[in-house]
Amino acid sequence: MENALGPDARFREGLSNGQINLPQCDECGKSHFFPRVNCPHCGSTSLTWHRAAGTGEVHTTTTVRRRPESGGDYNVSMVELAENVRMMSRVDGIAPADVKIGMPITVFVGDIDGNPAVLCKPAEG
Ligand SMILES: [Zn+2]
Repeated sequence: MENALGPDARFREGLSNGQINLPQCDECGKSHFFPRVNCPHCGSTSLTWHRAAGTGEVHTTTTVRRRPESGGDYNVSMVELAENVRMMSRVDGIAPADVKIGMPITVFVGDIDGNPAVLCKPAEG
């Protein structure tokens, strides 16, 4: 039953269990995202899923303007995880203007519009 789920479904299943899991190539050792059936670096189909370390940094960030009555401004950030993969996310618990490129973050599974999603918060310490 190893391949019963496609790569994308498998990633989302991880999220629904509160886990950020990433495929890592058995041949070249690199992780990638979005999940694919073969490694985008070397083409191997021999992949093993690992749980992400949960750390990373902000790669780029954009402030999305929104009326205060709709929840106020928020940020959309491209974050780079410790596994050298990038994904779209949002840094919570901080004003959008305070989200800086290179800022260390912790990633966790949160909730956007009722769906599990990868969110970030500023790394502690
Ligand atoms: Zn590879």
